[in-house]
Amino acid sequence: MITGGNRGLGRAMALAFREAGARVAVTGRDPEKNRQIQADLADAGAVFDMDVRSEDAVEKTIQRVLERFGRLDILVNNAGTVRVSKTVDTARSDWDLVIETNLTGPFLCAKHAARVMIQQGGGGKIIQIGSIISMFGPPDYAGYAASKAGLRGLTYALAVELAPQNIQVNTIEPGFILTDINSGAPDWLLEMWVRKMPAGHLGDPQDVAGAAIFLASPASDWITGTVLRVDGGYSIADRPIFGPSRAPREQ
Ligand code: NDP
Repeated sequence: MITGGNRGLGRAMALAFREAGARVAVTGRDPEKNRQIQADLADAGAVFDMDVRSEDAVEKTIQRVLERFGRLDILVNNAGTVRVSKTVDTARSDWDLVIETNLTGPFLCAKHAARVMIQQGGGGKIIQIGSIISMFGPPDYAGYAASKAGLRGLTYALAVELAPQNIQVNTIEPGFILTDINSGAPDWLLEMWVRKMPAGHLGDPQDVAGAAIFLASPASDWITGTVLRVDGGYSIADRPIFGPSRAPREQ
């Protein structure tokens, strides 16, 4: 089950998991995007309308997934959102939206998925999609950075708590990949990301899919509570950035 699987990284993971032989359930809210991924997966019953912020919706959707597929072995907590604003100007409602989507949502999905996995027996996999921003102090991204740093803490706690049931819980922290979530990024910022990136280019949703398949497979059965960065080396890069190295001053 992949939350936020109707586009971006979630869609790439859904198609890659299907390619790898998994039976895939996808959740999302946008009806048009849901229809599209349903067609891409060629499975009319694979897509579920669910808001990760609602515990009622999460619980009911997991029940529906069980009715449709019979089991739930792998949860990918991928749904996420961002609001960009200076902290002093950030509305409480925007803070709540980001924390509820990026941190409370994964908690709710993990809670109800883990219940099922424990009841089924045989273990399971929970994969969180964090962000390398969990390690940075990016101006204007306080809510997003806090939510993704919180997701690391949730991963560590769940990993220890669920280890006796053979459920592995890990986080993937992607670097910069062009999707709807950062489509508003200005050119100077994209240029700066690429300049700093040892790999020399931004990532592709497919890059995250490979890491997710590894963490969903028996190859990672003794790996839990870890953070796997998929970022072209961005977060450990310390190299000169030639050319304009600062954003234009704000007016
Ligand atoms: P997109 O904006 O393309 O996709 C976000 C997905 O989350 C959509 O499927 C959206 O579907 C879903 N979503 C958003 N809010 C909710 C909600 N309340 N309930 C249910 N689903 C929701 O972004 P990405 O694919 O890039 O992002 C996927 C994940 O990867 C996020 O967690 C993001 O933080 C993380 N990430 C992305 C990076 C990047 O550079 N792209 C870098 C680092 C991390 P719908 O609106 O239809 O519900």
